[in-house]
Amino acid sequence: MTLDAQSNNFIALADVALHNEDLQHAIGEGTRTAYYRRLDTMFAHSDEHGEFMRQQAAEAKRRALRNLPDLLELAERNLKANGFKVEWAEDAAQANQLVLDIARRHQVQSVAKSKSMLTEELGTNDVLEAAGLRVVETDLGEYIIQLAGETPSHIVGPVMHKTKAEIRDVFVRELGMTPTDNAEEMVAFARKMLREDFLNADMGISGGNFLIAETGSIGLVMNEGNGRMCTSLPRVHVALIGIEKIVDTVEDYATLTQVLPSSSTGQKMTVYTNILNGPARADEADGPEHAYVILVDNGRSDIYATKYAEALSCIRCGACQNACPVYRTMGGHAYGWVYGGPIGAVLTPLFVGLENATPLPHASSLCGSCKQVCPVDIDLPRMLLDLRWDLVREGESKAGWDMAMKLWAVGMTSPTRFSLGGKAARAGQAIMGEYMPGPLGNWSKHRDFPDFAPKPFRQLWGSRRHRPVKERAPTLNPSPPQSPASRGKHPTKREGLK
Ligand code: SF4
Repeated sequence: MTLDAQSNNFIALADVALHNEDLQHAIGEGTRTAYYRRLDTMFAHSDEHGEFMRQQAAEAKRRALRNLPDLLELAERNLKANGFKVEWAEDAAQANQLVLDIARRHQVQSVAKSKSMLTEELGTNDVLEAAGLRVVETDLGEYIIQLAGETPSHIVGPVMHKTKAEIRDVFVRELGMTPTDNAEEMVAFARKMLREDFLNADMGISGGNFLIAETGSIGLVMNEGNGRMCTSLPRVHVALIGIEKIVDTVEDYATLTQVLPSSSTGQKMTVYTNILNGPARADEADGPEHAYVILVDNGRSDIYATKYAEALSCIRCGACQNACPVYRTMGGHAYGWVYGGPIGAVLTPLFVGLENATPLPHASSLCGSCKQVCPVDIDLPRMLLDLRWDLVREGESKAGWDMAMKLWAVGMTSPTRFSLGGKAARAGQAIMGEYMPGPLGNWSKHRDFPDFAPKPFRQLWGSRRHRPVKERAPTLNPSPPQSPASRGKHPTKREGLK
């Protein structure tokens, strides 16, 4: 079982988001701040250093993926040597059942959860709650989302779509907080409420940002310390980790824990950077009595066997979401499943089936920003184009679009037809002005339709060729092309949002 996708409703969901001014403001502000903080941190030393870190991180993840089967076996051996009990889950139903079995085995009544996109994907909370367990999200953003009965809209900032006033209203309505607009007071109030939940929890559930094969350890990064509480205070700890989270060495972990916070929140390091090595030892005062790792596939092996395997390198930093002009306009809920933005537009069709997410490969302007900011250099635009190809091959492209492309091909394959088409377009524009007819009017409603040149290039070129050489005005920039070295700074530095 995987959470139901609403991605085929993308257009309708996007329309709702586009008419929500509060959401537009919150998402615009949140993504813009994260985008510029990333630039400041990632390239703080030099552009070359930032790019080097990016390529080093990309290589660490690519190497881990190339050796995935062997590394998973190594990780399992080392996890067990550290005292973890290791389980494997093929799909969401199996993963959730394993968590439920562990909870029953240890007479668990209440669960404290740290942030995990995988558990969103698996729908773990719903299954546990249906079985009568009390589940509390302890990451502040996730806590607000849970109280509001919503789902995260951003990989790193789940509550990015909400304004401060909306969060205040949630706390007042759901927890009886005395109304205040002071953010610090709101956070202090939430912290006090959560403290009780940590102390009363029988089981802590976490994800795992990385699984370090050579030491059999879980790498967990966070800013609020709630993950540390979830994994050390309750007597049982369960970590649900996607099999693609594997890394080879602690050194790779060190590389990735630098690019992850730089890319997501613009921090050099997260406030808490943890390496978990199993349950409490006999001579340790703190830590869980029982520690489990559930390695979850849930479609990842299928992706691994395709041309989209590179998408499994994703370290869930959210930088592509912050850079994407489509995501920045409407936020994550419009994508209709767990992951929004460019990585969501790629992962969702792969996880839930292309036929259940047909609009998503087109939810991109293909501007390339997502690849440029990705700390592990995933070629998201290439994969979006490949998915569009797959849509056409599977007959999922729209009839009108097919017809338009065929007409385009007819015009583009004959100089005469191309010339006639140009004349018709110029004549049409003279009559209709800046508004396009029929369904094309939706495009020109919010954009200026550029004027066609009064004379086509072919005509200009023809008349120019028949003029004497000295009358021809220079049209090309005479300066020689610049070498990469003479161009100076790396292009990723200080570029603005597209
Ligand atoms: S695709 Fe790259 S930029 Fe996007 S969330 Fe994953 S790692 Fe971050």
